[in-house]
Amino acid sequence: MTPERDGKLMILLVDDAPTNIQMLNETLKDGYHLFFATNGRDALRIASESLPDLILLDVIMPEMDGYEVCRNLKADPILRDVPIIFITAMSQQEDEAIGLELGAVDYIAKPFNPTIVRLRIRNQIELKRQRDLLARLSHLDGLTGIPNRRALDEALEREWRRGSRSLKPLSLLMIDIDHFKAYNDSCGHLAGDDCLRTVAQTLKQSLGRAADFVGRYGGEEFLAVLPETDADGAQVVAREVIEEMAKLAIPHPASPQGEKVTISIGIATAVAKREHLPVFLLQEADSALYRAKQEGRNRIVATPLLSC
Ligand SMILES: [Mg+2]
Repeated sequence: MTPERDGKLMILLVDDAPTNIQMLNETLKDGYHLFFATNGRDALRIASESLPDLILLDVIMPEMDGYEVCRNLKADPILRDVPIIFITAMSQQEDEAIGLELGAVDYIAKPFNPTIVRLRIRNQIELKRQRDLLARLSHLDGLTGIPNRRALDEALEREWRRGSRSLKPLSLLMIDIDHFKAYNDSCGHLAGDDCLRTVAQTLKQSLGRAADFVGRYGGEEFLAVLPETDADGAQVVAREVIEEMAKLAIPHPASPQGEKVTISIGIATAVAKREHLPVFLLQEADSALYRAKQEGRNRIVATPLLSC
């Protein structure tokens, strides 16, 4: 996906020569948000933190050269699709072949021609936009139009990593419509579909913060990923969602516990550790949801803060 800030895309410039970085900065600063690294290790760290839209990568650098940086990026499931353009003074065809074989999308030769640099970057960014659009379509749930499980799994993975670096807590809300089978049986599947769409839109609106991510996890189950949100913050969000559902007051003639459609929410919060998997947090949110169901539905159950 393409994280845009103020509508500008992000480019990471990697070159061990500060003069090259300066020239590229002058050429590109008006159109893009720019990040800089002067060695391979910094480049990998910054790429992983800022998830750029494009990387301009010098080939010849001490310690870790551009090819090795490229290999590392391609081995990372989150970064592998970020387009890489090599910048190089070498013009031999075989060197270009190495880079292209490693997965680079283009080459820019030094010394730079600013117009060529801008045009090549613009072309690659346009291609990336199209790829992102296709990716986004394949990440949406067909019925509700909100992100699907695949998108949620990726968001969770991404935020888990980000959280393991920032050491800020990450919260999950596992949300399930109460007595949904009874609703379908009594109101029909078309009404059931409408209900799913309404709940999806309500969740999307209640979780207004740009960084919050909500999707349909499967069936009548939804998942919200809340970065930089502690257990108290997650409670506040969950209560808002429950209140919004109450305001909607969708009639549920077959509900054993009232006349309206309600939801149950399981919350899990943790400070992520890189060596562990986000599936732990998912399981905790799921068992909290199970307890919410056991304890009577239309309620929130939270696990204590985990260290996982
Ligand atoms: Mg160099």
